[in-house]
Formats: sequence, C-alpha cells, structure tokens
Amino acid sequence: MLKIGSHVSMSGDDMYLGSVKEALSYKETAFMIYTGAPQNTRRKSLDRMKIDEALAYMETQGIDPKTDVVVHAPYIMNLANPDPEKRAFAADFLTQELIRSSKMHATQIVLHPGSAVGKDRPQAIIWIAEGLNDVIQRTKDLTIRIALETMAGKGNEVGKTFEELKQIIDKVNDKSRVSVCFDTCHTHDAGYDIKNDFDGVIKHFDEVVGKSYISVFHVNDSKNEKGAAKDRHENFGFGYIGFDALLKVIYHKDFENIPKILETPFIEKKAPYLEEIQMIRNKTFDKDLKEKVANKS
Ligand code: FE
Ligand code: FE
Ligand code: ZN
Repeated sequence: MLKIGSHVSMSGDDMYLGSVKEALSYKETAFMIYTGAPQNTRRKSLDRMKIDEALAYMETQGIDPKTDVVVHAPYIMNLANPDPEKRAFAADFLTQELIRSSKMHATQIVLHPGSAVGKDRPQAIIWIAEGLNDVIQRTKDLTIRIALETMAGKGNEVGKTFEELKQIIDKVNDKSRVSVCFDTCHTHDAGYDIKNDFDGVIKHFDEVVGKSYISVFHVNDSKNEKGAAKDRHENFGFGYIGFDALLKVIYHKDFENIPKILETPFIEKKAPYLEEIQMIRNKTFDKDLKEKVANKS
C-alpha cells in the first residue's frame, strides 16, 4: 500500500493524539512529527504526550507506528559543533529523542547530519560519527534507526553528497541503527538530476551507499534550479522538479513500502496536504491546486 503523508504538528493538549487526527484529516497513511518545536530543544514530559491514546487510536485506524510514523529531530542540533560542550549537548538531546520516539513506537528518526561550522568537513564527519556512536551505544537496548537526511548543501551542511553520507555510515559501528532519509528537494538543490534521471541518481546512490539504506523519502518540489544549494521547498509539482518526476519517486517499485512524506509549504496559511495527496493518488496534476487551497474556508 502507498505510504503517503506529511509532517503534522504535535502541540496543544492533544499532542501525539492530535498528530494522528491531523494526519487522518488529510487522508494520510503515514506521517512525520517533531516531538516539539523543530527550532528549539524544549520538550514536554512523556506523560503529557498522550502516547497511549494515540497508539490506541492508530490501531483502530489501521496505522502502524512501526512503519508509518517518522520522527524528525530538531534541525538546530549539530553533532559537528566545534565546541565540545555543544556537541555533548546535541548527543544528550538526540539520546533523549531516541528514547521518546521509541516510546511512541516509531522506528526511525530523521537527523540533519550536521554543519561544518569551521568549514573543516572531514573533521565534521568524524565528530558526527563519534556523536552517533555515542548515542547508539547509550541506547543499545533500542532498535530505532537514525535516518541521516540528504542535504541541499546550504551553508556548511554536511551530507550534500552521497559520498559524505557514506563516509559517516562507514564510521558508525552498529550499522543496523542508521539509515538514510532521501529528500528530493535537497538532492535536486545539491545538484542531482531528480527531474530527468531519478533512476540514474538511485543507481549512483546504490553504488555509493546502497539503496537498502533508504528508509524514508521527503517528496518536496524545489523553488530553485538544480544545484542551487538553497533548500527552499515548493508544493508538489509546482517547482523545478515537477509533477511527473516526483510521481516517479512515489511509485518507484524499489521503494514501495517506504514512507513518502510531504514537507511542502502552506498556502495562505493553509495546509495543502489533503489536496496534494489526492493529486498524487489520482496521478494527475492539478494546476489549480494552489488557488483551491488558498480559497478554502
Ligand atoms: Fe529535514
Ligand atoms: Fe526534508
Ligand atoms: Zn529542506
């Protein structure tokens, strides 16, 4: 079955239960959540996250958190920070995120590998791998995987190339605990030809990293040309990658059971996911989608 969804919020009193309800309101079969605000590391205690209620409700709705729920770590944390105290803080926080996510029955958490603040990328890769090994060691009774995201290469982001992801994975001792989150906007912005040659890109990924490492896709279009290194997401089919190329990613036979998550922008402050998912299921581009979402009451 097609596993398609979007990032949904986990806030207010309903927390995790609210995320499930929001995902179902867009007719999603998978979804992604941040355990709190993505731009900070303040988190509510587990007993206030409505985990049991959410799990019980998912069961009645045919959503299996083990395959259909993806967590995303906050994007401000940097395992490659040159300041050892800040690196230690990032590793501590990621450890807590893994414990939280496991309690939510998620089996993967997406992580931006890190940023080479001092511009020394080989050193950044070493620090990232050290951080991962530390976190994995401290959670060795868990099975949850850390999905390293392919990055656009904005600023000093590590993970712009498949080779960099490979270098990190090579240094991780327990490889059963790492995977890759393949973001179509990011790889396009990093210079890979998602629009015209997704099969060629995947062949290259397979040769460098191994395609069995891919555990989740972020299916975003891009507001910028290939290679722009910008990381600005566009609604599905409305950007430089385009509808047909993105649809090919969604229905690729090698990735049938892998969740596909939309992180496309809101339109006039309204979530576009119900409409985008309908368009994906119909396999037909709706050029009026943006107006339809904008005009929703
Ligand atoms: Fe991300
Ligand atoms: Fe992403
Ligand atoms: Zn992005």
